[in-house]
Amino acid sequence: MTQFNTPTDSTSSETPVSNADTQSGTPGATQPQSNDLGNNVDMSEVGKFTQLANQWWDKQGPFATLHEINPLRLNWIEENVVRYMGTGLTGKTVLDVGCGGGILTESMARRGSDATGVDLGIENLQAATVHAEQGGLTDRLRYKHIAIEQLAAEQPESYDVVTCMEMLEHVPDPSQIVQACFDLLKPGGVCVLSTINRNPKSYFFAIIGAEYVLGLLDRGTHDYAKFITPAELDKMAITAGFNRQDLIGLHYNPITKRYWLAQNVDVNYMMAVVKPTE
Ligand code: SAH
Repeated sequence: MTQFNTPTDSTSSETPVSNADTQSGTPGATQPQSNDLGNNVDMSEVGKFTQLANQWWDKQGPFATLHEINPLRLNWIEENVVRYMGTGLTGKTVLDVGCGGGILTESMARRGSDATGVDLGIENLQAATVHAEQGGLTDRLRYKHIAIEQLAAEQPESYDVVTCMEMLEHVPDPSQIVQACFDLLKPGGVCVLSTINRNPKSYFFAIIGAEYVLGLLDRGTHDYAKFITPAELDKMAITAGFNRQDLIGLHYNPITKRYWLAQNVDVNYMMAVVKPTE
């Protein structure tokens, strides 16, 4: 059952996280910022992640799959950034939407970008912040507790690169997120999105296989009805104003435990889109 928060459901008064200076570009500013949650969030979905927040960085824990695929997706993101912007992540301002514990955000900061992660799960941001501090990354990495739509209204066209991985299938209206990603990007910027396709094969692999047979994900992590076909995501991206550039599938062999990218997008896939320069 989808649960909407009204715009008045702000956590800012009750959050344990400090509201200390968290604006982007402030050295050492890694304390997550609290703000309105907006109305495009299903807190029962966010709760699936916050209840496991102390395990984000356990590479054998419930987020092991995200750790395993991270090098693959990081490389594919950077390849697209190089292809459409001429140079890699170094020196780029990057926004990671629905960043969770910061697995991808941190890896993009380690590649030399100035990275910001946003999420609506405060415990996720706390775990991400602690890990960034332990890694000495606070000068180029920060986390904010803010709805992406609100950030887009406050800081349009501020990022070179926007990523939104494994999150669109957990929100009430993914098209609104895609639009906010577009608005946040500078003209000519690259956005990389990932989600899960919706068909009998993806039901079998992503829910029955990953959650029930292999135990790669906690049961109930995914809701089949919220999966998004590449055609649907394409339509959201084009409607937002993007040019669609590339699509690739993420594959896993549970026997060899090998992950790889390939053209088949039947289950997990990533899409790279570019904001036109004018
Ligand atoms: N992108 C990360 C984490 C994916 S898990 C990665 O791939 O490593 C999905 C994340 O989306 C969770 O951290 C959850 O809290 C977050 N999320 C769900 N709905 C959200 C929303 N409306 N706004 C921001 N984050 C959201």
